[in-house]
Amino acid sequence: MSTNPIIPSNFIQNMIDEDLRNQKYGEKVHTRFPPEPNGYLHIGHAKSICLNFGLARQYQGLCNLRFDDTNPVKEDVEYVESIQEDVKWLGFDWDDRMYYASDYFEKLYDCAVYLIQQGRAFVCDLTAQQMREYRGTLTEPGKESPYRNRSAAENLELFERMKAGEFPDGSRVLRAKIDMASPNLNMRDPVLYRISHSTHHRTGDQWCIYPMYDYAHPISDALENITHSICTLEFEDHRPLYDWVLEACDFPAPRPQQIEFARLNLNNTVMSKRKLRLLVEGGHVSGWDDPRMPTISGLRRRGYTPEAIRDFCDRIGVAKSNSTVDIAMLEHCIREDLNKRAARAMVVLRPLKLVIENYPEGQIEELVAENNPEDESMGTRTIPFGREIYIEQDDFMEVPVKKFFRLAPGQEVRLKHAYIIKCESVVKDEAGNLVEIRCSYDPETKSGGANSGRKVKGTLHWVCAAKAVKAEVRLYDYLLTDESEEAAEDFLANLNPNSLETISDCMAEPSLAEAKLGNRYQFLRQGYFAVDPDASPEKIVFNRVVGLRDSWAKAQKSS
Ligand code: ATP
Ligand code: MG
Repeated sequence: MSTNPIIPSNFIQNMIDEDLRNQKYGEKVHTRFPPEPNGYLHIGHAKSICLNFGLARQYQGLCNLRFDDTNPVKEDVEYVESIQEDVKWLGFDWDDRMYYASDYFEKLYDCAVYLIQQGRAFVCDLTAQQMREYRGTLTEPGKESPYRNRSAAENLELFERMKAGEFPDGSRVLRAKIDMASPNLNMRDPVLYRISHSTHHRTGDQWCIYPMYDYAHPISDALENITHSICTLEFEDHRPLYDWVLEACDFPAPRPQQIEFARLNLNNTVMSKRKLRLLVEGGHVSGWDDPRMPTISGLRRRGYTPEAIRDFCDRIGVAKSNSTVDIAMLEHCIREDLNKRAARAMVVLRPLKLVIENYPEGQIEELVAENNPEDESMGTRTIPFGREIYIEQDDFMEVPVKKFFRLAPGQEVRLKHAYIIKCESVVKDEAGNLVEIRCSYDPETKSGGANSGRKVKGTLHWVCAAKAVKAEVRLYDYLLTDESEEAAEDFLANLNPNSLETISDCMAEPSLAEAKLGNRYQFLRQGYFAVDPDASPEKIVFNRVVGLRDSWAKAQKSS
């Protein structure tokens, strides 16, 4: 997928090219996407998915889907299922190569036994607190555990008993025997196994010891013959341990190699499963697929297309240093995609009634409107026009401000696809509230007709009152009011109270009565909208995917 010829090759592609030149893995390129099933995937994962599956596609290699399920307390089948759905929806396929780290529990155990036999792992009885004290700091070396020199026989027996469930959680761990004086803290006798009497979503109560990520990951990679194990930057300091594990367990060369890239950060966006889960569990959003969530399922429900997300991932590229991407760029990608593909329609979000006094009562005419001015092949549709229509409340001002080119007493506007109208008077109720606007129309100015060329400054969208269908529209703003990284840290204190606005009495043109889940539209002057799964035959519901104003494209032009 990242085969866009305009985008220069990234440093990972350069490394793979180099490996291919040297025949390090022969002609093979084999990557994996290794999510932990402890939440729904977010847009950051999309970057990793596009990268791993994209490289496999580009080099005619393979990419596995592997669930990194070594932490039973937080994991769940619900997440396993949503992850598969999301990867597929993004347009990628693992064929028959879906694996679980838990498939390897037996092999991981055997490797640990081997490490003990080789004198390269030991059972340690220090408490967590003591371990921290013994670890040392960045400037001071650590101290060796008093249990470090247990005999292999004693270690084997204790490890066996750990596995048999004889010890409580936290009482003992298995540690690698590496170097307590290493400048790299990850190499100071890191923990390989811990005791956790908890039920695993796949292996049940079969195990009460679970391998640590830094131990399970390289071995899982090696067992699957992965060539390039791509992960995010925070694992850079773990790479020596990755290599140590594979070497110590005697995996034959060429071994998989870990390559780190910068994770995606977006402003105004919380991007960690842990935090997203707090939003869900705290009831701050309606669920993992709330259209305000940066999850793939949230973006999908909002109306994002997989094409736009892949395009975004291509454009942000792959770098070796962390940075924050402007969310306006993601919005630009979906706008660009939907501008080409979304059918146009007219919907009045906040209706104001307008009566055309010189239009015959009871008459309805069918006007022709193009479905997409960007794409003639999308054809045309008819829209009814009649004596009573709705326009937007804010398209009328009784006392217009300067440069208000919409409707005002005595002022003319064009109704899109229809006629030029002129405001003659207004009707108010006893309290002085505006009830309706009375206009006249010029029958000579029909759009597409001989005199359609007459120019007026404003063009309004509208719907025919007699034929309109009611719709609910949901407008979204960012979940975080503050765009800074600090705000994302303290995200619960920075939640935007106005991130969702529901307007339940919108008036839509009748063609939208047919709108189905998966359909996306441009509502003229209002933005791009998608049908929400809450829609029913009684009530259509639309999500605003994104508004029309493109701040990102504008910033690009002026820079
Ligand atoms: P989170 O903190 O959101 O749970 P994670 O890294 O713990 O993220 P995993 O399920 O372990 O989530 O991630 C699966 C893969 O996705 C990993 O290879 C990880 O590096 C990658 N990934 C996660 N977040 C991002 C991100 N923001 N940008 C790019 N890749 C990411
Ligand atoms: Mg994680």
